[in-house]
Formats: sequence, C-alpha cells, structure tokens
Amino acid sequence: MNRESTKKKNRKNNGAILKAALAVALVVIAALSGALIYVTVVSPVNVLTGTGKILLGKSGVKETEYSYYDKNGKSLLTPYADHGLGTGMMCEVIVPYGECTDGANESNSSDPLYSPLARGTVDRVVSVAGSAEQPVYVLESGVKINDEYIKITDPGYLLPENALTLHGTEPVNGGLKLIFDTRWAVPVTVTLGPQSYAVGYQGRAFNVSKFTAKYMDIRFARTASLDALPDLSESDTVKKCEWIDAEGGGTLRLYLRRTGAFYGYSYELDKNGRFEFVIKKNIRRDATPTVVIDPGHGGSDPGACSGDGTVWESAMTLGIAQALADLLSEKGVRVVMTRRDDVYVSLEERALITRKYSPDLFVAVHCDSAENAEAYGSHTFYYKNYSAPLAKSIQKYLGQVYGELYPGDGAADKGIKFYPFAVTRVEECPSVLVECGYLSNESDFAFINSGAGRVKIAGALAEGILEQLNVR
Ligand SMILES: [Zn+2]
Repeated sequence: MNRESTKKKNRKNNGAILKAALAVALVVIAALSGALIYVTVVSPVNVLTGTGKILLGKSGVKETEYSYYDKNGKSLLTPYADHGLGTGMMCEVIVPYGECTDGANESNSSDPLYSPLARGTVDRVVSVAGSAEQPVYVLESGVKINDEYIKITDPGYLLPENALTLHGTEPVNGGLKLIFDTRWAVPVTVTLGPQSYAVGYQGRAFNVSKFTAKYMDIRFARTASLDALPDLSESDTVKKCEWIDAEGGGTLRLYLRRTGAFYGYSYELDKNGRFEFVIKKNIRRDATPTVVIDPGHGGSDPGACSGDGTVWESAMTLGIAQALADLLSEKGVRVVMTRRDDVYVSLEERALITRKYSPDLFVAVHCDSAENAEAYGSHTFYYKNYSAPLAKSIQKYLGQVYGELYPGDGAADKGIKFYPFAVTRVEECPSVLVECGYLSNESDFAFINSGAGRVKIAGALAEGILEQLNVR
C-alpha cells in the first residue's frame, strides 16, 4: 500500500527468508546472520557427535560432519556413508531452525505452509536457484532453503526410503511429547488444516478470516510407514490420529479436540537422533499462563520517529509494554519481557526467547509510521493461521480504543493482517505483532505520547490477551 513508507517496507522485509532482490539484500543479510548467531552463541548443548573432519565453509562457519546415535550406539543413516544407492549432491541443515519455503514457487518469501527443518535434517539437492553469491537450494522433499542454513556434501551418498517407529509419548509442561525413532533425519513439514487463505495486505496470499483447522499434519518426506500410532489420551488439544500414505512421504494426521483450538508445537531431532514433537497444552485451561511481551526496537535501533521529530518508537513501545505487563501480572499471568530498558535486542534473540520460555502467547508491541502523515489507526499482524485468533481478540479491543479516538470513523480500526515478521515466525505459540497507531500522524501521536493514551492501549492489548487465555 502506498501509505507505507519506504523505511517501513524495508523494515517489514525482515520477513523475507531468502534473498529475493538486491534492494532488500541488507535486511536479508541481517536476518541470516541471526541464524549464525543461533549456531555459535545460543546452542548450549551440542547434540551432534562429530565423526569427520572440521571444514571451514565459505561463510566462515565451522562445519562438522555430523552423525547421530541412539542409546544403543546405532547410528542414523547419513549421506557420509555408502548405502549402495549411488551418490548425489546432498545437504544437511546446520542451524536449529532452518527456515524453508515452497520449492516450486518462484518467490523466496516466508511461507506459513512450510515449517523450519530441524538441525541435522538431510536431503538431496535437486536444483540450485538464486544468484552465485546467494544460492538457494531446491531439495528432493519439495522445499527451498538458503545456503546459509545448510552445508553441502557433493558427492554425498543417496539414502533409502525411510521408516518410522513409535518410541513413546510423555507429558511435557501440560502438553504431550511424541517421540519417534527414524532410520535417517528426513525433512518434516508441519501444517494446520483445513484452512482457506485469501490475498490481502501487500498482495500476501495467507490472510485468514477465521482459523478453521481440524487437524495438525506432520508430513515426513521419503517415509513409507509408521509401525504404531501414539496414544493421545493425555493431550487436551489433540484426540486421535491416523497415518496417511502419500506419494513421496507419509503424514501423521492429529485431529484437534476442538476445531480452531491449537496453541503451538515444537519439533527437534533430539540428542539420540529421535524425532520429538511437543504439542502444546490448551492455554484456556491453564491456571498460570505465561506471556512474552516484546517491546519493539531499543538501544541502537530506535525504530520510527514521531512526525515532529521529538519521540522515538522504542520509548513508546516500552511504555505500552510495561503498562501491559503490570495489567497482566495483576491477573496472575507470568510475564516475560524481551527487554525492560532502552537496550538493543536482535530479532533473532527475541524469537529465541519465545522458543526458550515456550510461552502460551507472544505479543510484539510496535508503533507505525508512514510518509503520508494522514495515515492513522491500528492493526495487528499474524503469520501462522493459529495466531489469527489472538490477533483478532487484540484488534477487537484496540479497534475500540481507536474508535473512541476517532468517533464514527471505522477506518481507524485497520483490522488483522498476514505479514511474515521475524518475531512472529515461530511455531511455539500464537504470536502477533501489534502496530498501536502512527507516530507520523499528529492525532495518533498525541494519544500514544500521553500516559493516559498508552495505558488505554495497554488495556486493550491486555483485554485481548486475557480473552484468549480465558482469564477474567
Ligand atoms: Zn516498530
């Protein structure tokens, strides 16, 4: 929309996971270097057993040839040993969350129908796209992944069809963990469906009017069978499951206990080389829910500036977030803030905090700006379809606050929108980014810049959050 400033567009392009155009190269590089931070700084437990030589990749990242072992010392099949099937260009994911997208789509933008590949995932490369400086690899499983997230072994050894064995289930933080033994670390994609999508904001194709999923699909590439189905009786979000064979892989379909009631998951290849999925608990039944509040910007990244040049977004978002934290704490909600002071926190660290605390909800607080000083009002952004209900609840109350500010003007409530912001592209919980009004607009800014205005905004955010948590 032409209402958006160039500056804002660039900021929002943090959503692009793969390099699409030279114009966004700097932003993309920032996003990618975040993945490298995961590798070098935020991996306290080394789940990988090195069996080969240490190589120094062209990116300067140390690459080890990895191999996973189960407790019996039996290794998973890897592209580094011969399976009698010949050789090809093989790759292995070297970051904890190797974000990928549709291999058949020309666009490299983030796609919520794809989920990150776990560290250790291996696949065959079928074609290379992108530029020489920024190659993008299309994999046999149908996904496309940036070269920064993988290491290439060429030639590597081709792998046989996979088979899964149910290892067991265990309760985790009120949720349920499903554990599977696998022959090798095949690519896994998780989606929630059925869901219809519509083109909306900035031509993005993933707008949902309502979250309608009845099941969670876990698709295992190259996997023909699963020996037994997990017992879901201990989960309050999924109730039964079935194995669906399909060309190129198999899908474990987990049916939700209630349509449109899903609160996130996590997935990793554990230190024993097993697939582990944690299906989150039903937050509406949780007596002590946890919410991560993410005040946008801070420190060397002040965000947008008010139209009169006096106030930065980072101060406004912190003020709103602190008021919100107080309101939620009063209701017994455990609050985690990504920052409490005027300090710089990278987008990757913010997402990592969400993954670390595994909260029930994540809310990023921002203020808007546009070149057109007439632009005004509030809107709320989501990425995953199961984040839309939280966006809707928050925007319902925030829209009311802006309705009072502009009586009789429905346009001040700009609604909920799909956009792939870095901080909302997490699987762990419903995650949204709220734009609480325009600092570039005189009326919006006067409201946001007043203590009473910020408390009103925080009150609206709290109402929407508490509604989702079923806390009164
Ligand atoms: Zn912002």
